[in-house]
Amino acid sequence: MKVWVSADPEIPHHRLDYVLEVWTDASGIQWRRHRPSDPPPILHFGYADRGTPFFLRADPGWKHRFPFHPSTKIFEGMPIIFGHDDGRSVLPFDPFAATFWLLTEWEKYDPNFPRDVYGRYDERKSWVICQRVERRPIIHYWIQRLTVALQIQWTPPHRLRIRPTIDVDMPWGFQHRPLWQRLGKALRVGRLHPALWLLGRSDPYDVRHWNHSLPPSTLFLMLDGGEDHPWSFEFPPYAEMIRQIRRTGFKIGLHGSLRSGQHPSRWLKEKERLERVAGTGILSNRQHFLRYSLPESYQVMAAAGIRKEYTTCGSGYVGFKHGIAVPFRWYNPIDDCPTNLRLVPTLWMDRALMRITTPSRVPALVNELMSEARRWNGSVAVLCHNALWAGMGEWRPWKKVLLPFFMEQM
Ligand SMILES: [Zn+2]
Repeated sequence: MKVWVSADPEIPHHRLDYVLEVWTDASGIQWRRHRPSDPPPILHFGYADRGTPFFLRADPGWKHRFPFHPSTKIFEGMPIIFGHDDGRSVLPFDPFAATFWLLTEWEKYDPNFPRDVYGRYDERKSWVICQRVERRPIIHYWIQRLTVALQIQWTPPHRLRIRPTIDVDMPWGFQHRPLWQRLGKALRVGRLHPALWLLGRSDPYDVRHWNHSLPPSTLFLMLDGGEDHPWSFEFPPYAEMIRQIRRTGFKIGLHGSLRSGQHPSRWLKEKERLERVAGTGILSNRQHFLRYSLPESYQVMAAAGIRKEYTTCGSGYVGFKHGIAVPFRWYNPIDDCPTNLRLVPTLWMDRALMRITTPSRVPALVNELMSEARRWNGSVAVLCHNALWAGMGEWRPWKKVLLPFFMEQM
């Protein structure tokens, strides 16, 4: 099914084309900007009604500049931005502008957007969280509302594709550490056995002990040593671990260090080092602590050939950070063009669940999120840490409850 949308010349066509491309991926309906050789458009998008069957009023921000903090209204129970009172329009707001604003994280280009103690954007101040729509991918609701207004019969197929991902924050808990550290760790997690850990001969954190039971599509994101843990990619046993994970058939990506989230040159060095050690190009990334800077982090990743980026994930919440349940290309507002860097929404991560709920409430919450994603034909990632598999200390009660959800993704 194709929907031809004609647009006023004042609308920057490259931006509108980008939104229509995302809407196409999100809905399965072909949203296309109308060109002279196409059949007559059904919808006109702009500032004046051009006599098409339907008219949608565009926000003035397309001509000038979108505000960092547009005012929010409620329409049929949904929060909306870029509202207006033009009675000729099929909707009382501009869902294309709202989509563009959400996907570009426009509000975070405000130099005064607050940061937390780790230098990350304070997500609690983001529009999605303030409006409490993180568990509902609001862009899909807006698309659905426009299809109703245009009298299009549309039901997305109920399907869900899930990419399991593991952040290897701590390659070893015991091995390759001095004895006093092993002892300290064992005491901290409340277990002094098995003695093998203490001898440094075996290690429950080592992914090779359990990765054979994981879904084959699992992506391992590897963290370089420095401030975050002691082992550089070039430390021979770590390099061997990385090569073995690859040989087992799993894909490897970079887990950009905390510092690299603000220093793109450092991120580049980590990527090059991992490629050298792994003997392959690295196409995926997620930032450690989910720390990134707009637009620098994504700019450097796009230029360095990263194709899939998984930092789109809540640390203090679960759900849809950008209001969407499918991957989308990152749009660079500075160069004003879309890139080939695809941001993959991560639906939930173990650490966030540990912060906001209890193990007994996890099944209800995760099932709710998954069925919401399924409702919109979603394609998302889920995230666990290798420490979850080690299942020691604070992780112990979570391993049992989260593992089945992670394994179910096959
Ligand atoms: Zn991490």
